[in-house]
Amino acid sequence: MNQPLFKTISKCRICGSADIPLIIDLGDQPPANSLRDSLRDELPAVPLALCQCGNCSTVQLTQTIEPAYLFSNYVWVTGSSGVAREYSVRFCAETLKRCCTSQPFVLEIASNDGTFLKQFKNGGLKVLGVDPAKNISEIADKDGIPTLVEFFGVGVAEKIVAEYGLVDCVFARNVIAHVENIHGVIEGMAKCLKNNGTGVVEFHYSKVIYDQLHYDSIYHEHLFYYSLQSACYLLEMHGLYPFDVLVSPVNGGGMALYFSKEERPRAHFLDNELRKEKEGGIGDFEAWVNFGEACVRHRDKLVRLVEEVAGQGELMIGYGASARSSTLLNFSGINKTHLNCIADGNPLKHGKYTAGTDIPIVAPDVALAKKPDAILLLAWNLKDEILNILKDKYKFYGKIIVPLPGSPKVINNSRVRRRL
Ligand SMILES: [Zn+2]
Repeated sequence: MNQPLFKTISKCRICGSADIPLIIDLGDQPPANSLRDSLRDELPAVPLALCQCGNCSTVQLTQTIEPAYLFSNYVWVTGSSGVAREYSVRFCAETLKRCCTSQPFVLEIASNDGTFLKQFKNGGLKVLGVDPAKNISEIADKDGIPTLVEFFGVGVAEKIVAEYGLVDCVFARNVIAHVENIHGVIEGMAKCLKNNGTGVVEFHYSKVIYDQLHYDSIYHEHLFYYSLQSACYLLEMHGLYPFDVLVSPVNGGGMALYFSKEERPRAHFLDNELRKEKEGGIGDFEAWVNFGEACVRHRDKLVRLVEEVAGQGELMIGYGASARSSTLLNFSGINKTHLNCIADGNPLKHGKYTAGTDIPIVAPDVALAKKPDAILLLAWNLKDEILNILKDKYKFYGKIIVPLPGSPKVINNSRVRRRL
């Protein structure tokens, strides 16, 4: 541990401009996924703040944490989300439509447990994954998805080409937001790809973050918050041609941006979305300052709601110990005095405590057996899926606080019944 855990940027990670004014400061927070086995384990506190580049308009974090600390023992498993599993079927079909060959060799960067590659493999295609998290890659390997345990970059790209040849399709979902070595990743993707190949980068869309106040998606793993404009700028810096876009439901709203090495006709849909962005002021600093202020007002309202429920002596639990819940909890100060525990379906998290707020994470069966009166739906981006589980499996008809998107709301049991 001779290296410092984090460093502060002095210029834009994309274009190098030193004009990077602050948008919002969420305070010092522990890295979101550093769940603790014991409350005695020490946790680092790292500033969590957003700035925007005045030149290329990319919204980004002001600090970078050492990637080895964040990603080597990852606890997020793609396949644990029903939304991601369903979307993987559509993503596969839409991506194959945009490939120039009927039997493409498909490479995924940061392939996690192989949920997405599995769709391609089921169609009889040759696939390969790359992921730095050994524990998660092993799950993929067991499932028949060959996975290299590496941090992807130009060097790994060259190794892949030497060993497996060029690929027809390369995709990276939720990667370009996470890596400091962003130019190495894009360059590496371009290196792996045949001249007539199809590339895809998917990211949580900053226009959705802006419109719906997804400030809980701001955490140390997310270095970048791309608009279509800033993602196109990044690809074009590497001589690549963005040509189409697919709307993704993952993370509460994303964009999968298709690109090629040889210029292709550009889909009207992409141009339309770019125009909407411009009209909505997503590239403007003023707009993001307003976003920062709206986040503070939202947080204050949420805390009032939670304290109202907690003040009535009701037993409240959280649902979904995701990384985004960590920002929400730390920024709002909602902690173990408000929430008895947090239910989460991912067994890798059970028995651990949330970072900075010390709330025990348990299996949904254990949490619901406590007969809570109220639930704070931290994984609000999986709302429909979780409300179904609460109703069908646990017959829970108590209060549910839904913090986002937009204003925080309380859904009462009768409304839940009617809605479902
Ligand atoms: Zn920039």
